[in-house]
Amino acid sequence: DAFSPIDFEAELNPEQRAAVLAPDGPALVLAGAGSGKTRTLTYRVAYLLQQGVWPSQILLLTFTNKAAREMLSRVEELTGMPSWKFWGGTFHGIGQRILRMHGESIGLEKNFTIMDQSDAESLLGDVIREIDSAFAKNKDNPKPKVVGDMISYARNTCRPVHEIVEERYPWIEELPVVVDGFAKAYEGRKRERQLCDYDDLLELWVKLLKENEEVRTHFQDRFKYILVDEYQDTNRVQATIINTLGEKNRNVMIVGDNWQCIYTWRGAEFENMTEFAEQYPDRQIYKIETNYRSTPGILDFANHMMVMHPPIDGYPLELKAHKPNTVLPYVVPAMDTRQQARYVMSRIEGLSQEGRSLKDIAVLYRAHYQAMDLQLELSRSGLPFTITSGVRFFEQAHVRDLVAQLRLASNPRDIAAFNRLAMLLPRVGARTADRLFKLAEKIAARDRISPVLALTHDEVLKKVPKDALDDYRDMGFTVQDIETAMGGPAGNAVEKEDQSDLFTEVVSDEKRAAEAKSPQEVMQLAIDGWYGDYMRTVFDNWQSRKDDLDSLVGFAGRYDTMEELLAQLVLLNSETSDRSIDPEQETIKLTTIHQAKGLEYPIVFVIGLAEGLLPLKRAIESGDTDEERRLFYVSVTRAQDELYLMFPKVSASGGPPQLLEPSRFLREVPEHLYEMLRVRTGW
Ligand code: ATP
Ligand code: MG
Repeated sequence: DAFSPIDFEAELNPEQRAAVLAPDGPALVLAGAGSGKTRTLTYRVAYLLQQGVWPSQILLLTFTNKAAREMLSRVEELTGMPSWKFWGGTFHGIGQRILRMHGESIGLEKNFTIMDQSDAESLLGDVIREIDSAFAKNKDNPKPKVVGDMISYARNTCRPVHEIVEERYPWIEELPVVVDGFAKAYEGRKRERQLCDYDDLLELWVKLLKENEEVRTHFQDRFKYILVDEYQDTNRVQATIINTLGEKNRNVMIVGDNWQCIYTWRGAEFENMTEFAEQYPDRQIYKIETNYRSTPGILDFANHMMVMHPPIDGYPLELKAHKPNTVLPYVVPAMDTRQQARYVMSRIEGLSQEGRSLKDIAVLYRAHYQAMDLQLELSRSGLPFTITSGVRFFEQAHVRDLVAQLRLASNPRDIAAFNRLAMLLPRVGARTADRLFKLAEKIAARDRISPVLALTHDEVLKKVPKDALDDYRDMGFTVQDIETAMGGPAGNAVEKEDQSDLFTEVVSDEKRAAEAKSPQEVMQLAIDGWYGDYMRTVFDNWQSRKDDLDSLVGFAGRYDTMEELLAQLVLLNSETSDRSIDPEQETIKLTTIHQAKGLEYPIVFVIGLAEGLLPLKRAIESGDTDEERRLFYVSVTRAQDELYLMFPKVSASGGPPQLLEPSRFLREVPEHLYEMLRVRTGW
């Protein structure tokens, strides 16, 4: 408990202890998977507190907000220091916090909106259509998503956009210049509308530190100690942030494992590790070799695939097992993806009957669609499962609609949110929505009224298509349905005759919402307003969708301001979102390998271990499968006790069935390192 001293002797091995008790100065902790890197950082924080460092002087950067919360609650347990006193979280999370506090000097208002991936994409699409409609129409040109990826990659690697475009599309001569123009226009549009995409949270953070000496000095002085987990997956911009913040005190401890770098496609550079060492010639290096997580069988397997084929020079670290020997990993061929799913399910049922808790079990895969069969089987059998990523909960239409309403309430100039809502109205497409919004902005400027108010201006309403009612009829709704859809909370004195009134109502609901007090109230208003009726009209399963939204109201209760809530909602999109709502669920976890980073599970199934799936076809074609190998390594090293490596011999996901070869990563491993299980036919 908090009053007894921490027993660094008993709870850490000598290698870990050396890092935990390290003297001031730059330090690099290099260690393989499961060797206690994250644990070491946690104890380091506890140790610093013991030395009299204040929690507010420590910056702890982790891969997910959840990881930070877990580490800090562990510190709280060790030291009694309440975890809210720390600065801990992801680069993006901390970035948005600092930008909200100090962004004014670089032109950001406090209520700026964070766009998620798809908002950013549609904004870019708008920009492209506007400034070069011929480009947008030509099917040979890259789509907005691809253009967006290139721009994002350039920003994350700090390279010029045209260079990236040249590399990827060498056969379209004018493309680099064109995309460069898109990037600039997109940039301008975001600043104009007080919008930030994910990359902005890092880029603008750097800009703020660079341009505002006062802020820079403030944070350089404030953060006496900086600790970074999973450093191998930082990109150039993140490395710059660390270097700038750590410049003065130089107490930067970074922790990483080259072999687990799996985000180079998003601009991560494991070379940052080596560069750190070069930049701070006086840095201490700490290595940890003992693995506490996995059984020797699992580690032998993992070691073999990396030691025999090291994908990266640098600091190779072989894992030494601490646990006693038990079973070998299982390799399980299945006829096809359905049989694979059925095997996993029946095995889980078996484990459950043996008394294993479902939350000890995780199923990992390369891409979400690979879990479709399994989701189906699990749903049929009634086994509870959680998909640890945004797709299931936060990507759903109704949740996104609700978030859009909150965003508009918080920032009336948020065009992405406005468009999303406007497009719920029949006969309002992207273009109409855009036109309405721009018109309203013009009127707002002309009449000096708020943009929200301007949206209800006659001139705007006149532009709303009137034929919406027919559309509703065509869709088979009754007049009553239509009235319900057009209606809204009782006592609302808006006429209900045509489309423009639904529109008015959307806007007036937003206005009322903006005037309400707590984020929870705002959210409740949004659900009780027109949207509740809208849902009832358009969704068959509106009841369960309503339940989703109600659970969000509970979630909103944890936040004091709208900005905080929205930041969470938007950032959660890219994280393990389901669990943040109900953390203690007894469920099987379904997760991509990327999302499973840093985590561990007693029993792990890795499915889809076939050529073309892992490694991906794209990687095989490019001749570089190193990152795929590291990804496989990450998946194998998540397992504590039992590991099932599954491959389907036939792919049946869409299109004609295709024969699949087992993954090269499986074929490489000698047979004595695993046990082959046969699946009964007739599954
Ligand atoms: P990854 O590379 O996957 O991020 P990691 O190096 O961060 O792994 P941790 O997650 O910190 O490893 O530790 C792996 C497991 O081993 C955890 O369950 C941790 O509690 C346990 N562990 C680490 N060190 C010790 C120790 N000295 N004594 C007992 N258990 C330990
Ligand atoms: Mg870790």
